[in-house]
Amino acid sequence: MVKGNKGKIDNLGRIVIPKSIRKALDIDHNDDISMFVENNQLIITKGYKNCDICGNKNVNIQLKDKFLCSKCIKTIKSL
Ligand SMILES: [Zn+2]
Repeated sequence: MVKGNKGKIDNLGRIVIPKSIRKALDIDHNDDISMFVENNQLIITKGYKNCDICGNKNVNIQLKDKFLCSKCIKTIKSL
């Protein structure tokens, strides 16, 4: 486990991911990441989260541990 770090969110909502964490996740500037909330915690993962139903890269909603795109949300609403 990588040691946690404290930080602040700036006035534009940005945070700095400490070097030790970037190194542990093997991420660098311009890499794709996904952010989501789980159990009231911010989770940042390497790469994009795709829709869990169709695989679409444009995820709009997280529902518990599932990620859904707008097309699948529309389909579910129409059922
Ligand atoms: Zn979908």
